[in-house]
Amino acid sequence: MKVLVINCGSSSLKYQVLDMTNESLLCKGLVERIGMEGSVITHEKTGCDKFQLIVPMEDHKDAISHVLMAIQDADHGVVKDMSEIGAVGHRVVHAGEKFAHSVLIDDAVIKALEECIELAPLHNPPNLLGIAACQELMPDTPMVGVFDTAFHQTMPPESYIYALPYEYYEKYGVRRYGFHGTSHKYVSERAADMLNVNLDDLKLITCHLGNGASVSAIKRGKCIDTSMGFTPLEGLVMGTRSGDIDPAIVTFIREKEGLEPGVANEILNKKSGVLGISGVSSDFRDIEAAAEEGNERAMLALKVFAHKVRFYIGAYIAEMNGVDAIVFTAGVGENDISMRDIICNDLGNLGIKLDVVKNKVRGKEMIISREDSKVKVLLIPTNEELMIARDTFNIVTKGQA
Ligand code: ADP
Repeated sequence: MKVLVINCGSSSLKYQVLDMTNESLLCKGLVERIGMEGSVITHEKTGCDKFQLIVPMEDHKDAISHVLMAIQDADHGVVKDMSEIGAVGHRVVHAGEKFAHSVLIDDAVIKALEECIELAPLHNPPNLLGIAACQELMPDTPMVGVFDTAFHQTMPPESYIYALPYEYYEKYGVRRYGFHGTSHKYVSERAADMLNVNLDDLKLITCHLGNGASVSAIKRGKCIDTSMGFTPLEGLVMGTRSGDIDPAIVTFIREKEGLEPGVANEILNKKSGVLGISGVSSDFRDIEAAAEEGNERAMLALKVFAHKVRFYIGAYIAEMNGVDAIVFTAGVGENDISMRDIICNDLGNLGIKLDVVKNKVRGKEMIISREDSKVKVLLIPTNEELMIARDTFNIVTKGQA
């Protein structure tokens, strides 16, 4: 069966087609500037050159029509007609407490996801637009929803309840949800495969360090804690997000600077993190280049980032009473050799010994700890699209993810 994976943003859309007989990637692409001047689709069939088409796309339905044309194209396509696509897997950011795993989409699921819009006002609406457009254009194809929050639904209440008046949880669903769940799930399963140990026998800490970043504690295949919270703002220092701060700072700065409420949110999400500290960039490559030239704030940003990752690793070792393996994934985790080095430095007493030679690797599955390291350190490139396609295939063919 071939599965189409759709990840819809407000003005962009990523897609892939995978052949689930061998989980191979047939094509992938990106639509940008949906509903704006200069909308463009970039399509790449595996093993062929990319092609780009600038064509007006007023809305998500237009965008999906062009995706369907591209995948059926005589030269660049991967299917003869749409009947070859057995199912569509949709990435959906927030499922609140409603879904703890991926589900076949029906009217009740759509309604449940609409009820989660207030929890993810920027993300769920475009995700739902993508689903609606696909349902219109492919009315007979089963659709599956795969949720960023689902994997974290196994967290116990002591991990997800905030110490706020309990009624805010009951009335508004204010609790910790966690995000990047599809990535944490994927790398935890790969880690078990690489170590040749059953996931049920493992305690893992998975570090998804990208532009957005989160760490999860995974015991026997189940997430028991994660660093992102009610929104993706909590936890680690990120590219442009502050991560954990004393909440009193928000009121303090708002009063000092006379900020409107929305502006504070914008600062915490878009102007903070390693960008805010360094003043250089949100991209670790730029910050590292500046640090090498002696920029002290760039050096500080890298240290603060690493400090927070180590802080969570320590906390999760305590929560799980030990750890068997630590996994690094996503843009920084997969590529940033020196950052992995700083994070794992001097943790020998916790049984963590990085192999500085093996660590000199980028974007490739590998065990990067020393032979005598009690805790294995793994580099695993994430593949959220494959995880979405797997869940979609399993639900459509076997009735469960
Ligand atoms: P997201 O999906 O959250 O946008 P990614 O997982 O793609 O983020 O990570 C992007 C980030 O990865 C970049 O902003 C950059 O900081 C980091 N990155 C990518 N390549 C490298 C590299 N070679 N060295 C250091 N950092 C890198």
